[in-house]
Amino acid sequence: MMNFNDRKVIVTGGTRGIGKAIATAFAAAGARVVLTGRDAVKAKAVAAELDGDVQGLALDVSDGESVQEFFAEALDSLGGLDILVANAGITRDKLVMALKDEDWDDVLGTNLRGAFLCARAAIRPMLKKRSGRIIGVASVIGLTGNPGQGNYAASKAGLIGLVKSLAQEVASRNITVNAVAPGMIETDMSADLSDKAREAITSRIPARRAGSAQEVASAVMFLASEEASYITGEVLRVDGGLAC
Ligand code: NDP
Repeated sequence: MMNFNDRKVIVTGGTRGIGKAIATAFAAAGARVVLTGRDAVKAKAVAAELDGDVQGLALDVSDGESVQEFFAEALDSLGGLDILVANAGITRDKLVMALKDEDWDDVLGTNLRGAFLCARAAIRPMLKKRSGRIIGVASVIGLTGNPGQGNYAASKAGLIGLVKSLAQEVASRNITVNAVAPGMIETDMSADLSDKAREAITSRIPARRAGSAQEVASAVMFLASEEASYITGEVLRVDGGLAC
């Protein structure tokens, strides 16, 4: 197991699914972790379930004021920041012609603007320290597009553009910025799929199965590790070959 002893880690959207698996994995590897959810009580309850040094704090990534207040509290409580995992994300799936303005704004506001606000807040302490790791949780849909997910695909493609740009801005300061692009992963987000839709997607995955949140967490841990020190601006697919 990779060693993250005393590393200070923030995982946005850590109350379930992929974010919870990432927070669990970092805590098990010795890190000090802050996980977030929009509801403080829920975030604290999830943190209390996990073994290790894990706190739960409230954060709505789509709200600039919430991001500012959260980072002030989290940095104070952790005593700095080594690793940000910008994981919080939502879907509002519809064909483009049926998308309402708010479906667009909510998804872009959370998945893209939210990741930008968090990355901007995280980069300041990392620049001072001249070290850090930022990992954005994108999606293969940001690479390939998908009917019914125009807003989601745009948000994740935008996130990949942000990651590649920021990576080049801060590489000389020993800060790496990368993305993971999961395919179909078993979480609440993918639970709404009908059996028929699930079968149709699974049949297109060369590995012939959905991935687990733990498999995404392993990729995030690698990108956050010392072993990945010369990898930046990269998009690591975790998709069983779906978007080869
Ligand atoms: P879930 O729906 O299971 O979890 C989403 C998490 O995001 C929750 O912890 C939720 O917290 C949090 N969240 C949602 N909106 C906000 C917000 N405005 N501010 C802060 N936190 C928020 O999703 P997954 O675990 O499946 O997805 C995690 C990430 O992985 C997302 O970015 C998603 O796009 C991406 N992904 C998922 C795939 C999949 O197949 N599952 C595939 C590819 C990418 P709470 O509700 O407690 O506030």
